Amino acid sequence: MTSTFTSTSRRTETVRRPRDVGRTAARNLIVRALRRAGLHHVLRGQPCIVGLVVPHPQDRPDFVEAARAMLRTLSHDALANEFDRFDDAFEVVEFDSKPKRPKAAEDAVRATLASRARVVAVAGDPADFPTVFRVAADAIVTPDLVDVRALEGALHAVFGSKPPGDLIDAALGLPLQTIGMLVKPGRSLGQVVRRLRRFKDGAAAAPVTARQRREHPTLDDLHGLGEAAEWGQSMARDFADYRAGRLTWADMDRGILVSGPPGTGKTTFARALASTCMVPIHVHSLARWQAKGHLDDLLKAMRGAFEDAKKDAPCILFVDEIDAFGDRETLSGEHEQYCREVINAFLECLDGAEGREGVVVVGATNLPDKIDAAIRRPGRLDRHVVIPLPDTEARKGILRHHLGDDLADADLSDAAERLEGASGAVIEQVVRNARRRARSERRPLAIGDLGVALPTRLRLSDADFRRACIHEAGHAVIGTLLSLAAGKVPTQVRVFREVSVDGAAGVTACHRVGGVMRTRLAYLAEIVGLLAGMAAEEIVLGEHTEGAGGSDRSDLHQATMLAAAMEASVGFGRNIAYLAPADDAELLDRLRSDPSLRRTVNRTLAKCRDRARTMLEANGPALDALAQMLEACGSASRGEILDIVLAGGSDPVPPPDAGEGGPA
Ligand code: ADP
Ligand code: MG
Ligand code: ZN
Repeated sequence: MTSTFTSTSRRTETVRRPRDVGRTAARNLIVRALRRAGLHHVLRGQPCIVGLVVPHPQDRPDFVEAARAMLRTLSHDALANEFDRFDDAFEVVEFDSKPKRPKAAEDAVRATLASRARVVAVAGDPADFPTVFRVAADAIVTPDLVDVRALEGALHAVFGSKPPGDLIDAALGLPLQTIGMLVKPGRSLGQVVRRLRRFKDGAAAAPVTARQRREHPTLDDLHGLGEAAEWGQSMARDFADYRAGRLTWADMDRGILVSGPPGTGKTTFARALASTCMVPIHVHSLARWQAKGHLDDLLKAMRGAFEDAKKDAPCILFVDEIDAFGDRETLSGEHEQYCREVINAFLECLDGAEGREGVVVVGATNLPDKIDAAIRRPGRLDRHVVIPLPDTEARKGILRHHLGDDLADADLSDAAERLEGASGAVIEQVVRNARRRARSERRPLAIGDLGVALPTRLRLSDADFRRACIHEAGHAVIGTLLSLAAGKVPTQVRVFREVSVDGAAGVTACHRVGGVMRTRLAYLAEIVGLLAGMAAEEIVLGEHTEGAGGSDRSDLHQATMLAAAMEASVGFGRNIAYLAPADDAELLDRLRSDPSLRRTVNRTLAKCRDRARTMLEANGPALDALAQMLEACGSASRGEILDIVLAGGSDPVPPPDAGEGGPA
């Protein structure tokens, strides 16, 4: 008679503990991908047709085996369940990119799909699944690349104890097959680590495929992310040090806020960051948490997301559209209480009662100014990087990235040039349209397809282009001179030769510095900067054009809103009474109905415009020099702007009207 204890422990030893690290890691990644896609029925052993995209050929065998083992186990479990009897037949198939006899392959797939309750297929690219499979499938999902979490889990499962950091570090980045081959129970740790390292250094390391680059880009594969990419690389080093115990959580950055126009790659950045750090990413947004409707559900979903991330640490928690939380300063009306609670709960999650060790939070927004200041305090999302629209070089890189191996020898300079002002998303769309065109004509992609797919552009006349250069130079010069007062530094000016029909002819990107609490002088300085574009046009060309106003977010719109907020909202004007929340729509309403407010706001604006003119006249040489540089090169960096302004003899000056009375 055997004791219960012995039999249980034998079961654990011989049945439950897996032996192959590669296959176990693959299994973890499959389960994760299925859960993420909501394919819980697969995990319950119910009928299913699922495709797995595994770009790396050397990982594919492990995924096939893992899928097979998983389906087998699930059959066993499900059969044991009296209530859940079903056709137990399953099959795991692998699809090649170029089947020798496509017709026969399709027929075989049909037969399999017809005779099996559960089919899982593995292929290197979504396009490699035969059409009939794609049509029939519940879903085609792409498991994450092997990351810390998956490896840690697999090593733990195989060896029965938490694996040391240097073992994980040595194994990360190697194909599963190689890991499975080298890491075996019974070998000494030192030996295993040494072999893994030798493999990584040697020629044996598997080359990354172009497909893998497109499916799971790392920061190295992406272009135009600027400062964000640099921060990401240092984060990757920190993660490695953290895993190896050389760095504590207290010494690491906890989070970052990335902002930039839509489609510039904020989400892409977060995913690439995770791939580079080789940690999992949890993608969320307020809208997603809100989907259930009630406040309680939202808070539960938000807290749940942080809890899940903690369980998965080290990992990255991505929160998109973080401006949707609103700003407690500007909230009003019936939503106020709701939003206040949401923001407070979010702050609690960021701080965490017991901390959130190992969870790096990446927040993204198109509107960094709309974010509650408390979210950006130290220890929360205290670092802010802007992802600008890509410059010509970056656009070339992004085109190349999305083209993959296609048009390998083509010179993309011209296309990149013609995509002036386009975001990464627009560029990706251009490549997609070009591909569609080639496909519809049943021929390989040609450079001409790209040309046809480029967006229609309006080319500025020389005179208009020169005006755009003068306008942006005005913003940049004043912005630099007033950067201390405004708490905002111009980081890059760009002008466009060709403008999309409704687009701008130039942009001056700014970076916020200093404290988050703005004073009255900061407001004034910002208004002066906003009006400096039209002031520069007036000085150099005699008058300004409609370009400064006419639409939301135009210079005049923004300046008017700031001036109105000073009067009606934040107590910086003639009145200190609070008349309206600092919200564009409310302020505009107030302005329309309140002639006295309108007069005061007008006076503030006129005064600030005069201020801009005076300052620009005093810095005429700098204005001219920068405008000429823009005309010649199309852009100027922060350093170049600074050099030009300093060469003009002016130092970044004190606030616009220090010492004077109100803006009367
Ligand atoms: P955002 O989150 O800033 O709105 P996304 O990251 O969602 O932008 O990007 C939208 C699409 O554009 C993605 O499918 C991505 O492939 C592409 N994209 C954007 N920026 C880049 C970039 N720098 N390199 C490659 N692709 C990019
Ligand atoms: Mg996004
Ligand atoms: Zn402007």
